[in-house]
Order: sequence, then C-alpha cells, then structure tokens
Amino acid sequence: MNVPDKIWDVIVIGAGPAGLFAARTLSDALSVLVLDEKTRTGGAGAMTDGKLNLSPHIGLDLDELRISEEEARERIARIDDVFLEHGADPTVYGEDAERIALWLDRVSWARRRTSKGEWDITLLPARQRHMGTDLAYRVVARITEAVAGKGVEFLLRTKVEDVFLRDRGPFIVRTPNGRFASRYVVAAPGREGAYWFREVARSLGVETRYGAIDIGCRVEVALPVYDEITQVLYDPKFLFITPTHGDRTRTFCTNPGGRVRVEIRNGCRLVNGDALKKRKTGNTNFAILNTVSMTEPIQDTTEMGRKIMEFANFWGGGDSLVVQRWGDLTEGRRSKAETFHSAGLGYDKMNPTLPPGPGVTPGDISFAYPGRIVDNLRESLLLLSRVIPGVAHPSTTVYVPEIKFYDTKYSTDRHLETNVANMFVAGDGVGKSRGIVGAALNGMLAAEGILRKEGKG
Ligand SMILES: Cc1cc2nc3c(=O)[nH]c(=O)nc-3n(C[C@H](O)[C@H](O)[C@H](O)COP(=O)(O)OP(=O)(O)OC[C@H]3O[C@@H](n4cnc5c(N)ncnc54)[C@H](O)[C@@H]3O)c2cc1C
Repeated sequence: MNVPDKIWDVIVIGAGPAGLFAARTLSDALSVLVLDEKTRTGGAGAMTDGKLNLSPHIGLDLDELRISEEEARERIARIDDVFLEHGADPTVYGEDAERIALWLDRVSWARRRTSKGEWDITLLPARQRHMGTDLAYRVVARITEAVAGKGVEFLLRTKVEDVFLRDRGPFIVRTPNGRFASRYVVAAPGREGAYWFREVARSLGVETRYGAIDIGCRVEVALPVYDEITQVLYDPKFLFITPTHGDRTRTFCTNPGGRVRVEIRNGCRLVNGDALKKRKTGNTNFAILNTVSMTEPIQDTTEMGRKIMEFANFWGGGDSLVVQRWGDLTEGRRSKAETFHSAGLGYDKMNPTLPPGPGVTPGDISFAYPGRIVDNLRESLLLLSRVIPGVAHPSTTVYVPEIKFYDTKYSTDRHLETNVANMFVAGDGVGKSRGIVGAALNGMLAAEGILRKEGKG
C-alpha cells in the first residue's frame, strides 16, 4: 500500500471533547489533523445539555486512568478554565455547603443498611456548571476556532473507515475523501463510534476487554417535584443498592426544566435528555442507570446492550421508544394512548415533553426490558421517593431504552497509549470517561503522552 506524501505527526479521530482537547494540547508542538464524520466539531458534547462535571469522582474512573484525586482536580480546573474563557456560564452549582448538608441529613434519615451492611441510598454532592444545549455549541465553536488558529487542521464530513499499520511505517487512515498518514493516532470516536473502533482496534492487535454497561430508563417528573434539590445540586447524584438483587444503580444526567430527547444510535432509538439555558419546560428529567457486568457464558456487554436496545425498539412497534406512566407500571398494566393523560388516574398533573406519537409508543417496560433490570429501576425510584416523595406520583413517566455504550475497555499505560506503539485512545468510546470534562481530560492525557515520547513533554 502506498504511503501518502504528507505524513502528519498526529491524526486525531473524532472531534468530540476528547479529540478537541487532545488537538488543543498538541497544537503548539506538532502537526495535527482532526477527522470527524460530522459537519461540526464537539461530538456528542456540542449538541447536548453541556453540564460540566467539576468533581473528580464523576464522569471519570480514577483507577482506570491511574491518576490521583488531586491530579484530577487540578486538570479539571484547567479544563473548566478553557470552557469559561470561551464563554461558558460562570455560575457553579453544588457550592452551597449549608444547603447540601441539609440534603445529606435528609438522605441519612431515609437510608437503611442492606444485608451486606452498605447504605441503600447515598447522595454524592458534585460541583457543576451548566452551558445548556442552546449555548454549548457556541462555546465549542469558539474553542475549535482557537485550536484551528494554532495550526490544527480539521477535516469534517470525513468518516474514517479503517486504520492500517505498516511495518515500522506510519499509520494509514482510510476515508472516502482519501488516505492520510501519521506517526501517531489518537482514537476518540465517542460512544457513537465505539463499536466500529473496537473492530478496527482488534484488527490492529490492540488489546481490549469487556467492561460494565449502563442500562436504564429516563424518568420525567413535574418540575416542582425535583426543584428543591436541583436548585442546590443541578444534577444530583443518588447511588442505590437495590433490595431484591443487591445491584448498583444511580441517577444520571438530570435536566431541570429540560426535555426528553431521542438519540439515534446504529439505526435504533435511545432516550436521553437535555435542557436549554434560556427556555425552560415545566418538567425535570433524569436517568436511572443500572450497571451490568457479565462473566459467563458471555462477556460481550456491547452486544448485550445492542440486543436490549433492538428488542425495546421492537417492543415499541419496530422502531420506537416505550413510554409508561409510573401509575401503570406499579399497577402492572401497560400504558395506552387513550389513558395517557387521564385526569382520573392523576396523569394530567404532568405533561411529558416527549409524549406518545411517532417513535414513542405507550406500552409496558416490563415486557421491553430484562426482568432484573426492571426490578432494579423500579426499586431505585422507590428508594428515591423516600427522600423526594413526589417522584413516585402516578404521572411520573418512564422511557426506555436508555443505554450508555462505554463498555469496551482498552489496556493502556498512564498516558492512554495502547499495547500498539503510538496508538493512543481517549474518551467515552474507549471506556475511559463518561462525560464532557472526563473526555477532555482523557484527550489531554493522551496528548501529553505523545509530547513526552517526542521529548516535548
Ligand atoms: C443527549 C446527550 C446529552 C448529554 N449531556 C451531557 C452533559 O450534560 N454533560 C456531560 O458531561 N456529558 C453529556 N453527554 C455525554 C457527552 O456528550 C459525552 O460524554 C462526550 O461528548 C464524550 O466525548 P468524546 O470525545 O469521548 O466522544 P464524542 O463527543 O461522542 O465525540 C466523538 C466524535 O467522533 C466522531 N466519530 C466517531 N466515529 C468516527 C469515524 N469512524 N470517523 C470519523 N469520525 C468519527 C463522531 O462523529 C463524534 O463527533 C450527553 C450525551 C448525549 C447524547
């Protein structure tokens, strides 16, 4: 195979937060080409709610990254500064120690010990900034402009199809717009490209293993139900240990005054949520996620997630989310279009932001999802209702499938270099982060690894 004339120092695959921050860190020192199949940079992070998690235990796994809490804090502060410099809202949630203490007190009264001696519900306070879906993309556009201004080249609408490695030669990156060569690759394909990249990585000899997958639902409640806590903690992190199975679940991605959204993944519909900065709805949504690991006879959590996603869509009528009122779920009956807003059942109290319609089918999530996961999701909401009683109102609405595909893990060194020399990985798609700031931190680490190898670190 011929090597293209120009050999870049680094090709970054994916212009999400991981790829952008990798490119930003490399920009002064090396020639960098960023390839992304989308028409804009920022990846999933640009068109999302833009909550910046500023606490080291959220959105990253310190053990997986092998960094200390102190180092994570210092890096998160640097990343936050970049977002602030480029126009993120200066308000930070989760700093009112007195009101947080009141919430922790409330949780301590509501929780009980499980048979293994752990607490069944815990609140993990976190500092957060909120950019909003309507403003996050502008902040990302300004960061991209600054990075491009330092000489990084961005090639958008360019899907990477394959990556090859010649003996001792450069990496060859194949796209429909031609082939590109580089001495290093940073692969930051996000959850969207995770499955594709796993196959590419394996063909290059990169070692991967299966990690846990998060499978859950999106819950939507009336704004006043959750307002009291989201004014203090924008995205409150409750951790649960479920009574029947002793499994771990947690709340995730809370959007006060937000909207439930559809996310298309590999031709299937997933549910997600976001909030605008300037225009609020009368509802709040959040996810409850169940962390699932598998041992035998199968370990492939990605494949399992895909099958659950496909089956839930099938149960929705072929290509649809399943939505159910909490009142119907607890009474053991399916939701129906005719009764979805029934005043007699109390369903008129909350108007879902993603009501039944094309692509959203009222039904029964206990048919659409595996039994153990449904048990865990139901029990988590009941545990939460001990602290915030209104969440278990009959009008509360539950949507599936919500699945987070960051389950394939890559064996890397401290700087995210894989066992294949000069092949670095970063971000959600390679199981190293679960959020914008975590992904950005990954990008920085990978870039610093390259700079060190070049004697420039
Ligand atoms: C609706 C929604 C709301 C969210 N809200 C929040 C939030 O409030 N706060 C938060 O911290 N996180 C949020 N997230 C998660 C957040 O967006 C991700 O954690 C983050 O973007 C991960 O960054 P990344 O760089 O690893 O991947 P991504 O942002 O997914 O970027 C990966 C990029 O790689 C590109 N790519 C993939 N494969 C290829 C290929 N073969 N060729 C070329 N390009 C490719 C993709 O086009 C994409 O642009 C949300 C996600 C969604 C979907």
